[in-house]
Order: sequence, then C-alpha cells, then structure tokens
Amino acid sequence: MEIFQTIQDYGHEQVVICSDKTSGLKAFIGIHNTTLGPALGGTRMWNYATDEEALIDVLRLSRGMTYKAAVAGLNLGGGKAVIVGNPHTDKNEALFRAFGRYIQSLHGRYITAEDVGTSVADMEWIKIETDYVTGVQSQGGSGDPSPVTAFGVYHGMKACAKFTYGSDSLSGRTIAMQGAGNVAKYLAAHLVKEGAKVIVSDIYNEKANKLADELGCTVVEPDKIMSIDCDIFSPNALGSIINEQTIPELKCAIVAGGANNQMKNEVTDGYLLKQRGINYAPDYVINAGGLMNVASEVVGYNQKAVLTSAEGIYGIVMNILTLANDQNIIPSEASNKIAEERIAKIGKIHNVYNSIPTIRGNK
Ligand code: NAD
Repeated sequence: MEIFQTIQDYGHEQVVICSDKTSGLKAFIGIHNTTLGPALGGTRMWNYATDEEALIDVLRLSRGMTYKAAVAGLNLGGGKAVIVGNPHTDKNEALFRAFGRYIQSLHGRYITAEDVGTSVADMEWIKIETDYVTGVQSQGGSGDPSPVTAFGVYHGMKACAKFTYGSDSLSGRTIAMQGAGNVAKYLAAHLVKEGAKVIVSDIYNEKANKLADELGCTVVEPDKIMSIDCDIFSPNALGSIINEQTIPELKCAIVAGGANNQMKNEVTDGYLLKQRGINYAPDYVINAGGLMNVASEVVGYNQKAVLTSAEGIYGIVMNILTLANDQNIIPSEASNKIAEERIAKIGKIHNVYNSIPTIRGNK
C-alpha cells in the first residue's frame, strides 16, 4: 500500500501512529479535517487481521465523522481512533493510559469517545491521562447516548413522513424495525406513544419479545423483517443490510433508522432505492443524536440543549430530501454536498483570517 498516497486520497490532515512496547498498545488516530473544530470521534478496538486493515478503517471512519459533524451543525471536525487488539482479552489499564497520553500530546486536536469494542471503563482509564475524552461516567459525563440517538431518529423519521405523505404524523403508520437493542427500544417507545404500529425483530428472540411485551409491538423472525409490508423500514442493527439483494424485497416507502453504514454501496444502492421510489434518510444524518450528546460534554453537558439539537434533525433531513429531489440526486449525495459546502465556507473564513497580517508581521 502507498501509505501517503492513501492518506492523501482520503483527504486527512494527520494520522498518528501510537506504538508502546511496554503496554502492547498499537493504535492509529485519524484526524481527517479540523476546519469546523477539534476532531471528535470514538476509539474502536478490533482484532484487525493486518495493520493495513486497521489504517484503512481509521481513515474511513474518521472521514465519516467530518461529514456527520458538519451536517449536524456541530462545531467539530472528523476524527476517529482504532486500537489493534482483541477487546475481550487484550485490554489493560496501561494500554489505555498509554493511549490517553498520545491523545494528550495532540492538545485537543482530537477528542475521543467510546465505540465498538471500548467501554465507559476504558474511557475512565484514558481520562487519567487526558481531558480530551468524552462519554465518561464521572462528573460531567453524558452517559448512554442511545436515548438521544433514538430521539433524533424519531424526528428524522417524522420529516421523512412529511416529505413522503404530506403529514409528519406517524399515527397509524406501520414501522418495521430491524433490531431490538438500545436505540431500537427508545425509538419504539416514541413510535408507539404516537400511535404507530411497530413490528420488531432481533436475532435474539427474547430481546424482541421483551420489547413487544413492554410496548405492545408485533414480533417477526429476523429473516422476514425486510420484506414485510410497511410504511417505514427502520434499520437499527447492523450495517450493509441495504444492498442489491435486499432492495427488491423492500415493501416500504421510507427507510429511516439508527444503524450505521446501512448501505453496502452508498451510491449504487442509493440509486437502486431511488429507482424504487423509496425515500431514504442518510444514516449518518439521522443518527447524529449520539454525536450531539458527546459533543455537548466538550462545552459542559446540557441535556435540554442536546434534545433541542436532536429535534433539529427533522429540519436537516427535510432539507436533504428536498435538495435531493430538486437536483435529482440521492439523499446521501445531497447531505455530502451540504457538509462539503459548510466546510468550504468556514475554511475560506479561516484563510481570510490567516491572511490578515499580525501586529508583529506589520512591524
Ligand atoms: P445494540 O447492540 O444495543 O442493538 C443492536 C441489536 O441488533 C442487538 O439486539 C442485536 O441482537 C440485533 N441484531 C443484530 N443483527 C441483527 C439482524 N440481522 N436482525 C435483527 N436484529 C439484529 O446496538 P445499538 O446501540 O442499539 O446500535 C444499533 C445501531 O445503531 C448500530 O449500527 C450502531 O452503530 C448505531 N448507532 C448507535 C448509536 C447509539 O447511540 N447507541 C448512535 C449512532 C449509531
């Protein structure tokens, strides 16, 4: 792999290699773009087969965070970190503290949080060495982001309904939910409260059954959920489930859910959905409530303000669907465009500011 060419192709400002022999730490920190503010994104711990695979993952994930923060209106850049190792067997205090020291050495250019394979306890270890960590339990921490993520998804879904049906009421609508985990359970509660009919599935039947018992939903087998007749299909489990095999099966007018990376191929699958007349809320836009939650920690956590921001996902999704419709493009192209334009505009201000001679320069 041409490392520098690959990093340049992804458009990164900086990639930090963290290697500490004593603790066994092997990690990459990807800082994609800090035009809008410090790069914030979680640390993933995964048993990557090769160092190259880990590097590509950090580049891909950190670039995604730039777009997510920009569209969400946050004053944050895009960053992410990956630790190479087995999250079940390779964790220890020294490893996370060593990692915390690397984060500290960046003096706030990168702020971390939890991600797949890392936990609140790991963040607490990192916090011993640096303040540039969010998602901690201790004082000022924002706690579990799932309720806020679900609240944002709920409002984004209502915007999709308004765009599709002319009314944002979900009362009487049938919503098929894939997954009955953390985001799904809070989302289902909002939907049922509004009078929607919720059908749920999970590979762990007991999770789906529990949700159904609590809220009065219907349960179907996991292999049926994507082909069920419904108004909205809501992915809240894994990624890549919207693809050329599953798109022909869908019997819905809208796809809107909290899962990350829902499409196998953002462009080709996006166009297949468009051809079928299905409106899609880009995943990284509709699930930004979780990022809004940890971002608030940076300036002093304020739950009320966070919920107001998450409610704003309604307007953001509506703008994206309208732009996509007006320009005959897919919603993810519209959201990418909005992100890139915001970054370009703010970047220009920085350039102007940087070009003003300093007092010292005038002498
Ligand atoms: P979770 O692990 O609590 O829930 C996921 C559920 O999906 C689990 O119950 C799992 O058994 C189920 N599942 C897995 N494969 C399935 C399948 N094929 N069919 C049906 N069910 C299946 O995770 P979560 O925190 O609720 O996150 C859900 C999704 O939302 C993930 O993609 C996550 O990356 C994304 N997301 C979560 C947050 C957050 O705040 N938690 C924020 C942004 C994005």
